[in-house]
Amino acid sequence: MLPNPFLNDLHQAIGPAQVWTEPAVCLVYERDANFLATSTPSVIVSPQTVSQLQAVVQACHQHAMAYTVRGAGTGQSGGAVPTNGGVVISLAQWRTMDLARLAQRTVFAQPGVANGDLKQALAPRGALFAPDPSSQTVCTLGGNWAENAGGIHCIKDGVTADHTLALQLVLPSGQVTTTGTPTVVHPEGTGLALLSLMVGSEGTLGILTGGWVRTIPKPTHTAVTLTAFSTLKQAAAAVAQVLASGITVSALELIDQLTVQCVNRAFGVGFPDQCAAVLLCELVAFSPAELAVQTQVITAVLQAQQPLEHRATDQPQQVEAFWQARRGAAASYGLLTPAFYVLDCVIPPSQLAPALARIAEIAAGHDLVVGNVFHAGDGNLHPHLFFDPHDLPQTERVKQAAKAITALCVSLGGTLSGEHGIGLEKRDSMGLQFTPADLHWMYEVKAIFDPEGLCNPGKILPAKGFCGEANCSHGDSALLPATRPAALSAAGLWI
Ligand SMILES: Cc1cc2nc3c(=O)[nH]c(=O)nc-3n(C[C@H](O)[C@H](O)[C@H](O)COP(=O)(O)OP(=O)(O)OC[C@H]3O[C@@H](n4cnc5c(N)ncnc54)[C@H](O)[C@@H]3O)c2cc1C
Repeated sequence: MLPNPFLNDLHQAIGPAQVWTEPAVCLVYERDANFLATSTPSVIVSPQTVSQLQAVVQACHQHAMAYTVRGAGTGQSGGAVPTNGGVVISLAQWRTMDLARLAQRTVFAQPGVANGDLKQALAPRGALFAPDPSSQTVCTLGGNWAENAGGIHCIKDGVTADHTLALQLVLPSGQVTTTGTPTVVHPEGTGLALLSLMVGSEGTLGILTGGWVRTIPKPTHTAVTLTAFSTLKQAAAAVAQVLASGITVSALELIDQLTVQCVNRAFGVGFPDQCAAVLLCELVAFSPAELAVQTQVITAVLQAQQPLEHRATDQPQQVEAFWQARRGAAASYGLLTPAFYVLDCVIPPSQLAPALARIAEIAAGHDLVVGNVFHAGDGNLHPHLFFDPHDLPQTERVKQAAKAITALCVSLGGTLSGEHGIGLEKRDSMGLQFTPADLHWMYEVKAIFDPEGLCNPGKILPAKGFCGEANCSHGDSALLPATRPAALSAAGLWI
């Protein structure tokens, strides 16, 4: 139950029409795209201006209320899920873009602008905002900055941090500030790298109200090669050879057999399905001649791996159909399973074959089906564990398998996350990758920006003492919501 004085202050700050406490509305904001993390907020607010946002933050501080900012809610690590109730601040309506400085390859966007909308606005002008999460038609720049989002093309173009020049934010103190410099090419050449600190901070250090991003020229010519292999080991070897070829490919995606069968049924793209894996490799250029040379080199490299089948296309419609199928791969799992749990871990690309073999063993050992579709060139794995949320023992096995796969990736020299962030999902696994000294400095940084701990609390950093030692568990405390509505539990809708 919210204290009335707090609600009164919110009404004063932004007007009652922008404040919702109805249970049905709050329920909508209880989860993001992470199936397992849920917690219902007490109130949703939608400030319209920076000064209204400041007033909300100040009211939260005055009443010691925790707040969590939310974009489109497509995050997969529980970052936009409020812990133990609290306030959700929705900035999804902040959708203004300013392309006036496009000639200088810089544009301004508010945090509610969808990644794909910015891309669409830039495309007719020959420009591109490179970060391309598969959720791009929906996910917001606020979420992209906060998660340092990646995507299919990041192997060549980099992640969101590589394309961000400056960010405006409201700090937990209520102060408005800007980090970075929108007018220079390398905004962090001087001083401590505060911009880098903000990108990827998952809404824990402040609320982003706008940012200047870099655009790059949109390549004019694209080709995709599709290569089918009889074993995952062969496909992994092909990835290594492509990376060593001297050609900078713009995408290198691996799709396993189960996933191929799903995307074929869902999208009718006709990928070869009698193989262990399909490798999609994209090449981009600014002239047909340049593209032809690249395609020739990559084709020779892939053919040398003795694939079952190899094709190349530069037909725009077919290229788009391939990528649409790839982006929709996770959705196509809906043909086979009521739900899946997608993991996001990174390994050195050289460890691809042993990692995939071990992941298959872990899934089988937990009596689970796993589908793999991922950014092979970056070593960014996305095992999708199929499950039925109504089956509680199976859900528990998913958590255990996720724990084992995460630990495996770190033990192979990898990292906890490539693009989905830590959020609630992996905060209790931070000790797998970071030393107690690393974590100490992270707590210190958090405390400088947010001494009262009200700004998206409980994300990224494990509770002090929980993870001070190197081996902490994977998400167990985070995945258990503080409160479980009895009716939902009884209906099996609350896991
Ligand atoms: C089908 C699907 C495919 C996906 N594919 C990819 C992919 O290829 N690559 C990838 O990187 N991710 C992918 N994601 C994950 C997700 O889309 C990204 O993390 C995205 O950046 C989240 O954006 P959002 O607007 O939905 O953020 P939300 O889920 O609303 O929030 C995510 C985090 O950002 C914080 N946040 C949001 N807005 C602000 C703000 N204004 N200021 C400060 N913090 C803020 C939130 O507090 C939260 O911690 C995918 C998700 C789905 C469902």
